[in-house]
Amino acid sequence: MLDVLYLSISLPMWPLLIILFLTGLVLHLGWRAKLRRERAAWAAELSRRDRHEQAAIAEMLARQDALFDSMIEGVLVLDEKNVVRFANSTFAAMFTTSGILRDKALLDAVRLHEIADLVERTRAEGRVMDQALKLPGEPERWLQINAAALVSADRRKLGTILVFHDLTRLKQLERTREEFVANVSHELRTPLSLIQGCVETLLDGAHSNPEVAERFLKIIERNTQRLDFLIQDLLAISALEAGRMELDWQPVAMRPLIDKVFSDLHGKADNKKISLVNELPELTARADANRLDQVLANLVDNAIKYGRAHGSVRVGGKKLNEQTLEIFVADDGAGIPPESLNRVFERFYRVDKARSREQGGTGLGLAIVKHMVQAHGGEVRVTSEPGKGAKFFFTIPAAGQ
Ligand code: ADP
Repeated sequence: MLDVLYLSISLPMWPLLIILFLTGLVLHLGWRAKLRRERAAWAAELSRRDRHEQAAIAEMLARQDALFDSMIEGVLVLDEKNVVRFANSTFAAMFTTSGILRDKALLDAVRLHEIADLVERTRAEGRVMDQALKLPGEPERWLQINAAALVSADRRKLGTILVFHDLTRLKQLERTREEFVANVSHELRTPLSLIQGCVETLLDGAHSNPEVAERFLKIIERNTQRLDFLIQDLLAISALEAGRMELDWQPVAMRPLIDKVFSDLHGKADNKKISLVNELPELTARADANRLDQVLANLVDNAIKYGRAHGSVRVGGKKLNEQTLEIFVADDGAGIPPESLNRVFERFYRVDKARSREQGGTGLGLAIVKHMVQAHGGEVRVTSEPGKGAKFFFTIPAAGQ
């Protein structure tokens, strides 16, 4: 009876149970699919964030590299084992190292034991160290190196950072200044000691002999004049180099200016029987007439000084273009040896020191010429065929029409 009842109740229930089971299954599968979708969405979101973060980190590193590469100082970061962790492009250029520096040992990257020693000292002393270092080889190069230990927030040693600053220009300037002071002292001492010697001789009794006295007084006169020239030239060059020379721009007729320079120097030219020839066509410059006069006077004076006795000094020129005139001063003297051509415009450079001094030269004339021409926006150069003379050229602005 019970079996019949069970069958009669349960028979119509089967489809219901199956429906319930299937509904459960569908719900379960749906839920799992939703879960999978959510998980996938999360994974996608995480990987998007990851990519975003990676992109942000890459951008930050690229910016950091660009920042370090734009520095004029070389930067080198080493870890505790002296392995390169970072080097900027200025550092690579300073040491002309090509290829990847990262992960190289310090002494493989830079074969300089002085740097390794500095790193050791920085580590040992735990403070910022600095050192000037002359690099081996030519041309001469100097570096200033600052080294500091890298320490984490919890005081762990991470390595060393080195910053390299190119000192070459500064060292050159320092040397030029020292040479200049030495040269000036020497130039001042020579006439001063001659004057002193003459005065002592005169005081010792030479003054009672009029002939001897006159000879010594002439030496004194010549040397005081030389001191005066030297001081004037020194003042001119320091004003020019400091950019303190103001120019009084005006149209300057060149032919009459050259005639004036010739008439100022004709006494000197006559002494050597040198003829002065003005070959310049009618040209008008835009310049400071007094400075231009000084430029021409220095060049013509040199051409007479170093020119051939019974020879000639010629001044000529042409219009290079609408804006520029080119003027030359040529002589037919001994000329300038090729190795000195680039150097004659340096302060105190002389091809033949004794000859220049004997002629009363200060060794500053051409340096003054160069600066004055440059102050006008022009350029100066020289050509020479030894034995056949020297030809100095300079450019100067042309006056507008
Ligand atoms: P300095 O007072 O010695 O003449 P400068 O600066 O005027 O000084 O000239 C520098 C050097 O250039 C001179 O000492 C000389 O050796 C050389 N020099 C200049 N002009 C001439 C020239 N026209 N011919 C040959 N050498 C020259």
